[in-house]
Amino acid sequence: MSTSSPHILVVEDEPQIRRLICEALRGEGYTCGESSNAQDALALAAGNDVALVLLDLGLPGMSGNEFIQELRTWSQLPILILSARNAEDDKIGALDLGADDYLAKPFGIGELLARVRALLRRHGQDQDAAPTFQFGDVHVDLSRRIVCRGGIEVHLTKMEYRLLAVMLANSGKVMTHRRLLQAVWGTGHTEQAHYLRIYLGRLRQKLEVDPTQPKFFLTETGVGYRFQS
Ligand code: CA
Repeated sequence: MSTSSPHILVVEDEPQIRRLICEALRGEGYTCGESSNAQDALALAAGNDVALVLLDLGLPGMSGNEFIQELRTWSQLPILILSARNAEDDKIGALDLGADDYLAKPFGIGELLARVRALLRRHGQDQDAAPTFQFGDVHVDLSRRIVCRGGIEVHLTKMEYRLLAVMLANSGKVMTHRRLLQAVWGTGHTEQAHYLRIYLGRLRQKLEVDPTQPKFFLTETGVGYRFQS
């Protein structure tokens, strides 16, 4: 990946939207690859130094979800999906398959660019996966399994700690209920969304300044949760 100007692959079948997105990205100094379908996009993703994929879910032929499934067999490239309004199920399906974030159409260019920056930053950090995290007055050392708040150690139960570690490892990323349940409780528990409400509530009680107005452990309504530092 080039650090000076990351290359972004835009997969969108509507030429006007594709052009608009690419112009905005180039205006920010990124280089841009374009594809109107998922098959060509897979070839481009394999052959180029791509830093991020912007993926429309409603594509002719091979679907956006099939693209994600295929790409995830050999790549952890960040994927930002663009979903049509009223396509809640598609969006959740794509996140379950391993997409990193989503924007609902119509979206503002400013928001698109902010999400792109956040994903590139996160992906860059993944390379040297820092085992420590600092947010607010909380310090977490994953290598030593220690959580401190204001310098005082906070006791977390085993499952609270596991949920925290998964959220931190996926910082900035939308985690669907299914993906979180699978990562923390295992594949047999992917329908127990109430576990998440309970345990997220406990993490907020222990680590947020105001648990009713969380700043770090955010709810993505109808989708899942996101940790944001
Ligand atoms: Ca489309």
